[in-house]
Amino acid sequence: MSDNYPKTSAIEKNCHDSECTEKIAGLTSEQKDLFKKFTYCPYCSEELILICQNCREQLDSPDYRFCPWCGARFVEDDEEK
Ligand SMILES: [Zn+2]
Ligand SMILES: [Zn+2]
Repeated sequence: MSDNYPKTSAIEKNCHDSECTEKIAGLTSEQKDLFKKFTYCPYCSEELILICQNCREQLDSPDYRFCPWCGARFVEDDEEK
């Protein structure tokens, strides 16, 4: 079954506010790289949250190697190829 194939994902930073989420989604890839280092949202100054790119659920640690919600393995961008 192809469902058993291990899923991979990445940890993404995002804002609680859906208006900011839209702005963040429209950033260029260079801006998104920089965004990963941010602690606070540049649009509303709230602290950013960490989410799983695969299931969009919130994570409470940046050190997780697997998503506790969907089981996907987190890979670094440069590790993926
Ligand atoms: Zn925000
Ligand atoms: Zn997940």
